[in-house]
Amino acid sequence: MKGLQGKVAIVTGASSGIGQGIAKRLGSGGAKIIVDYVGKPEGAEETVRAIKDAGGDAEIVEADVTSTDAVHGLVNAAWSVFGSADILVNNAGMEKESAFWDTTEADYDKVMAVNLRGPFFLAQAFVRRLRDAKKPGQIINISSVHEDMAFPGFATYCASKGGLRMLMRDLAVELGPLGITVNNVAPGAIATPINKSLLENEAELDALVANIPLGRMGTPEDVAGLVAFLASDDGAYITGSTFVVDGGLMRNYREQ
Ligand code: NAP
Repeated sequence: MKGLQGKVAIVTGASSGIGQGIAKRLGSGGAKIIVDYVGKPEGAEETVRAIKDAGGDAEIVEADVTSTDAVHGLVNAAWSVFGSADILVNNAGMEKESAFWDTTEADYDKVMAVNLRGPFFLAQAFVRRLRDAKKPGQIINISSVHEDMAFPGFATYCASKGGLRMLMRDLAVELGPLGITVNNVAPGAIATPINKSLLENEAELDALVANIPLGRMGTPEDVAGLVAFLASDDGAYITGSTFVVDGGLMRNYREQ
């Protein structure tokens, strides 16, 4: 893909699942990768090893996206290690299941802090450096089909991803004049550790897959290909949109 060579990409939550797939894909396309993680250094090491084995370059940085100091550190690390930060992939995310009436303040705060506050202030730190250097850039948020679609039992997750949708739309307008594009990629059901309990429950899994027109869960690679396209030169004129990668799920979904 044209335009990734030599660019520097920060990928949050690149130690697992979708973020790991994105980091590997951008790395094999020639981008230098800052591999962010928070709790699992072994996952981050696996990501870097795969990128280097494929001839790319990557550096691990531990940064909790809920900490403003840490996200500034993450952006500064990209500039000090690789001399730039051109692409930001806000991928780190989490979910907590609870009936709406039982949801605690602690769970609400945690989900919003990781899924919405993190991308907000990381994007801010990323944009300030680009603005000062007068450079263009790309922000790609990994939201979810639940930026648009109800998910009973996951009101905090829906609120965070819906917020990410409006943040993306607003920033596309505000940052367009700086040459910075902003888009969301919205996965459907992807086989990663976030879905551990679902993947271990055969009946639930069969019911879900029956709702997916393409007849299978997605893979991190299914998502990474679209992210790579948006980050490449082919994505240069694309901003302000959400791109769904869900095997048709949104068009055919029924809660069990
Ligand atoms: P995952 O395998 O559980 O990975 C989550 C990643 O986020 C891990 O790398 C984790 O780091 C990182 N992370 C969590 N809290 C963090 C924090 N405070 N600071 C920095 N990193 C943090 O899940 P996934 O399925 O790949 O999810 C990635 C993104 O895709 C999320 O935003 C999720 O909402 C979205 N998504 C997933 C699906 C799906 O079906 N899988 C569908 C739609 C959207 P550590 O490993 O170091 O703990």
